[in-house]
Amino acid sequence: MKCQSLNEFGKAVVGEERPDLTVTGTEVLLRVTANGVCHSDLHIREGCYNLGGGQKLSFADRGMKLPLVMGHEPVGMVLDAGDKAGELDRNKHFVVYPWQGCGECHQCKDGRENYCSAPRYVGMHIDGGYADQMKIPHPKYLFDIGDMAPEIAAPLACSGLTTYSALKKVQDTLAKSPVVIIGVGGLGLMAVGLVKAMGGLPPVVVDLDPVKREAALKAGASAAIDGAAEDAVAQVQAAVGGTGVQATIDLVGAESTASLAFNAVAKGGKMVIVGLFGGSTPWALPLIPVKAVTIMGSYVGSLVEFGELMDLAHKGLVPALPTKTYALDTANDILNELEDGNVVGRAVLTP
Ligand SMILES: [Zn+2]
Ligand SMILES: [Zn+2]
Repeated sequence: MKCQSLNEFGKAVVGEERPDLTVTGTEVLLRVTANGVCHSDLHIREGCYNLGGGQKLSFADRGMKLPLVMGHEPVGMVLDAGDKAGELDRNKHFVVYPWQGCGECHQCKDGRENYCSAPRYVGMHIDGGYADQMKIPHPKYLFDIGDMAPEIAAPLACSGLTTYSALKKVQDTLAKSPVVIIGVGGLGLMAVGLVKAMGGLPPVVVDLDPVKREAALKAGASAAIDGAAEDAVAQVQAAVGGTGVQATIDLVGAESTASLAFNAVAKGGKMVIVGLFGGSTPWALPLIPVKAVTIMGSYVGSLVEFGELMDLAHKGLVPALPTKTYALDTANDILNELEDGNVVGRAVLTP
């Protein structure tokens, strides 16, 4: 098999030839047909998240071991399966639910494998889709992509699920008050479409980039506000109108965006932080109780949520991210391009 392996944090991924994979029991071997290149792959290659104030969260300290084949947005066809995996259609493409847990802890037993304390995330703790072959421990993690193209289905595993799960956390507000979506790159545009699919009012979006704001308006946002405007908070509040801001989804996760969300949100409102840009909290502690605000983190999503998202996708209700496909051996170049901000839409490797 061919793979692109990360052998040292902070260094390039390198092409390697390895023996073909074998499977036993419930395991399934896939021939990878597409794998999205996610922004978090950059953090993995670097080996850390920026926590602000010069602090870093190291992946090595969190149990990530090298060498690693990254890639947590894989789609593939079944090549082989263990004797306990059951019947699997070998002519279909499946997208993999990558946020797999230990299966033993209370989080896993409650269906929140994505919060497992001993995670086995594909492309982070076990080898993922920067390869022409990969194996998964159980067929329950496979979802038929139907007539979607593999490169369109691949980003659902991370971008799509992350967006959906964040919106689910404020679902009770969506039909009453326009949700405020901060950052309308690929995830933000997906969020704008998902809000509609979930029965919500057209959202208000915030972004620094006029091109992205325009795209969000075309995609169905009711208002698009420049986050750098001096009166951005007042503009957001005015655009949301009478109910006040009940929910914000911060897809950036920077101090400036967290600050904007906190200042804009109404009393009793909810803030969901999704983006991992980095920094530290910019608000004063007493204001949290005074505003009775709920600040939530959202990290990817559960297996059940992924099933729900795939149902919406099969009905054509999940907007496709603009994607461009690339050969597997360009993985490191694509990561560099992504780092330099030169990738428009989603880069997908097609091994
Ligand atoms: Zn990702
Ligand atoms: Zn677990």
